[in-house]
Amino acid sequence: KTIDIASPARTQAILNQYGLRAKKKFGQNFLTDGNILSGIVDAANLTKEDHVVEIGPGIGGLTEYLARAAKDVLAFEIDSDMVKVLSETLAPYDNVEVREQDVLEADLKTVFAETFGEGEPVKVVANLPYYITTPILLALLQAGFNWQQLVVMMQKEVADRLAAKPGTKEYGVLTVMLDYYAQVETALKVPAAAFNPAPNVDSAVVSLTPKPAERPVEKPAKLFSLVKSCFAHRRKSLWNNLTQRFGKEEETKDKLHAALDEAGIDQGIRAERLTLGEFTDLFLALQKHGV
Ligand code: SAM
Repeated sequence: KTIDIASPARTQAILNQYGLRAKKKFGQNFLTDGNILSGIVDAANLTKEDHVVEIGPGIGGLTEYLARAAKDVLAFEIDSDMVKVLSETLAPYDNVEVREQDVLEADLKTVFAETFGEGEPVKVVANLPYYITTPILLALLQAGFNWQQLVVMMQKEVADRLAAKPGTKEYGVLTVMLDYYAQVETALKVPAAAFNPAPNVDSAVVSLTPKPAERPVEKPAKLFSLVKSCFAHRRKSLWNNLTQRFGKEEETKDKLHAALDEAGIDQGIRAERLTLGEFTDLFLALQKHGV
């Protein structure tokens, strides 16, 4: 019986064999805890029908679990040293394709259509490189492919922001954007000891499932741009941030006042108190008043 790639001993043996160490610049921390890997697979409810995308397979520890549980796996890896390792460690699995590519540079919708077929549902399961967690999440949510579930490991501090409640310090642009697209649940908390090398932070596995936007807008990116402006100076009032963005001319201020009135939002409030629904009201009112 072969030993799991992710077992502590085999992980270290593979790194030694190739003369490699985890690279900080690529956010490399390898999972070496089989219980956590099983927990991730369970959280993703994988079946032999599922198409899975992994971001950052590393030496293949999680990939192996995914290959066993899913129909097929497409994995994006930026580090050519890892791609070489993977050609050996994943050789026993004929349902895995490794792409040597920066996931942030990939045209995800097109690549997924080519790999799995146009419009096929996809689950993303990954132990993310923490230095780019937010850009990856946003790229996945905005790419417009048919996603069924995202099960992603990240720094606990970021996980806390995803499902934060208005008025808390964790609540911010990321929370509002996530709320537009997804239902968020924390699936697992993961101690640093589950990795080689152990990261300096606690980690969590978050499960996102798609939800239809309660109030869909034509161009979500424009709504999010407004939300970003409203949070630009977190400690300042909404009014302050809005005039910062749109200007302080009398005409502009009149329009801003009219839009705020229409949306029923107090200009002295801070962005951190506003729900996605209120941001949407404000966005639509601003559009209507030509701001
Ligand atoms: N999946 C492995 C595991 O769980 O043990 C490794 C996870 S490690 C936290 C993150 C992985 O993402 C590394 O293999 C790293 O090289 C890769 N990576 C970093 N930046 C990337 C990028 N922009 N695109 C694709 N992969 C990336």
